Amino acid sequence: MTTTLLQPGEIEAAAGSIPELLLPPADLFLSRARRLEQLAEGHSLGDYLRFVGRLARAQQESLDAGPAAELPVPERLVQCREHQMPPLSPAGLGLPDGWRDTAQQLARTMLSSLPAAGQAALKSVLEKQDAWLDEQAMQLLGGNIQGLDAAAAPIIGAALQVHWARLVRQLDPAQVARPEHPNLCPVCGAHPVSSVVRVGGAQNGLRYLHCALCNAEWHVVRAKCSNCDNTRGIAQDRLEGSDGVVQAESCPECNTYLKIIQQEKDPLADPVADDLASLALDWLMDESGVARSGINWYLIQGQL
Ligand SMILES: [Zn+2]
Ligand SMILES: [Zn+2]
Repeated sequence: MTTTLLQPGEIEAAAGSIPELLLPPADLFLSRARRLEQLAEGHSLGDYLRFVGRLARAQQESLDAGPAAELPVPERLVQCREHQMPPLSPAGLGLPDGWRDTAQQLARTMLSSLPAAGQAALKSVLEKQDAWLDEQAMQLLGGNIQGLDAAAAPIIGAALQVHWARLVRQLDPAQVARPEHPNLCPVCGAHPVSSVVRVGGAQNGLRYLHCALCNAEWHVVRAKCSNCDNTRGIAQDRLEGSDGVVQAESCPECNTYLKIIQQEKDPLADPVADDLASLALDWLMDESGVARSGINWYLIQGQL
């Protein structure tokens, strides 16, 4: 089912009062876990969604227990803002202290809930050397998925998300410049997972792209391709018989799509959880020859 949307100017609220950047709430991983558990009920990928739900709960425990992270010095934040650079980019910060401990703690928590075959896949996080873990993390952060250990990547990504969420929660949105291009996170420079139309508050009815790493969200007008800025002929697809919470917005210019999650249709919908639970839509788009522009670190596929 394909429909063509109105142009952005026809449907978007007047600019000026729009919150451009939303920082993640304190319970972001817990909310995600609950949504995954809800989506797992009666789902053909239920076991997998429950596994990711347990991982998200472990992330919340880690976020709650961890020490405060240290932001870059104020001069650096001002400099990044002036030059429209993401202040928390991995290239600028390097790997956070203690990130390997976080990854190993998450792996230990997950091991107890897995059958033997799954346990073997996670052991690399516990048994490999520090240099291997650092290299896997750098590849994931750099968007280079070719040499990644696919079983370890969700745990490594989850640990990095905890550290970046801890950092970004200490920022004030006013410290971050609006990006020159809307395809990357203005806070950390990572790719989006998907986009979400929020309900409630000043962001009601507005679309935000959700960051795969730091979980910040940045505003991008609807019916605009975040990958190439094109606004013409953007189409929306959804699975036949679906409730329309998740749709794929595809662009005829760059031939990519990004999912859009409609909280108007379900206020509990989550840009990461609902993305995972709608893999069938990715398969449909793949069959149509349209490439995915979003990345979900819980499930590294042939993206980017
Ligand atoms: Zn980010
Ligand atoms: Zn495009």
